[in-house]
Amino acid sequence: MSATPNQRIERSRRAILDALNESFPATRQELSRRTGLAPSTVAGIVRDLLATGLVHEHETGDHAGRGRPSSRLSPRRPPGYLVGIDFGHRHISAALASTAQEIVAEGTVPLDVDASASNALDQAAILVADLLDRAGVPADSVRRTAAGIPGPINQTTGKIQSATILAGWAGVQPRQELIARLGGEVVIANDAELAALAEHTHGAGQNVSDLVYVKASHGIGAGLILAGRRYTGAYGASGEIGHTLVQEGGAQCRCGQRGCLESVVSISEVWRQLIAAGLPPSERPDNLFLDALVGNPVVARIVADAGRQLGRVLSDLCNALDPAMLIIGGELATAGDPLLEGIRESLRRFAQPAISDRVQIRSSALGPRAGLVGALTLAATAPAP
Ligand SMILES: [Zn+2]
Repeated sequence: MSATPNQRIERSRRAILDALNESFPATRQELSRRTGLAPSTVAGIVRDLLATGLVHEHETGDHAGRGRPSSRLSPRRPPGYLVGIDFGHRHISAALASTAQEIVAEGTVPLDVDASASNALDQAAILVADLLDRAGVPADSVRRTAAGIPGPINQTTGKIQSATILAGWAGVQPRQELIARLGGEVVIANDAELAALAEHTHGAGQNVSDLVYVKASHGIGAGLILAGRRYTGAYGASGEIGHTLVQEGGAQCRCGQRGCLESVVSISEVWRQLIAAGLPPSERPDNLFLDALVGNPVVARIVADAGRQLGRVLSDLCNALDPAMLIIGGELATAGDPLLEGIRESLRRFAQPAISDRVQIRSSALGPRAGLVGALTLAATAPAP
């Protein structure tokens, strides 16, 4: 059944508001390009949005060619602050930002997040209290908190649903736990999904509507943006590529299986291989930045091999989803070119040529902060619960 004219207008209005909330200020031309709507449709809807006060218009001083300064649009922001929290496997980061996502305080604490959910949630609350204190912001002026969790979250129950992927958190409802500790409104998402959202709105994937973000860290997870939207799957467990079998009878994985992708290319496993090759890195693996090491040909080969293993799994994912871009993030991505070249090699070999010839493969533009930036983006743009 085709949509009525009113439904079409409402859909277009929603698309424009979403596009503007995700990244602003934006010109009418940019909104037209990002939503795929005709310039005349955008102009009409923007006129209504300006009249109702939902967006405001300002001159930027940039002159587009001749004469008239280009005019940009922004959503009207309520006063107050947002909190973003990124739970990694080995750290917690948090940021306090204005509702326009300008960060006013930020901090990180190293912690074994997997070991105890209640301790990790307590430490997150202490970190947030410290940020508020440092910035002189009263807790009741926080409008919303968003947190990324490194595990699958059931969309219906809000529980961490896997006893095999994040065992210390199984059955925990992080949203309720954070509301109890911080008060106010809290939204929760998977960490790789938030990093995908951040790269799509502020990073490497701003001009594509279909992308896969891969977090290659102590765990391996993927976040999906499909048709311009964050895709969580029917039950919130999309993108759990870390437990794809890549080596029959291989090393034991924390999920109980043998030979998972994660047991072969996690940052801890790459660190173990570097040690075995007589190359003890200067840092412990909870902070393993490889960029300074890849000039060494042995390191480059180890990293390229990890890239090939990762690329084998990403080839199947690309065959299924046909994304325009793969964005590689997490600490492993600090290895840069040798890692990306290993991934490309596997895609050329295992993905369909129609896909491997076109898909762009890039390092994360936001680096280790992608999850935190994504949490603030979600806090700014999520619909009211
Ligand atoms: Zn596994």
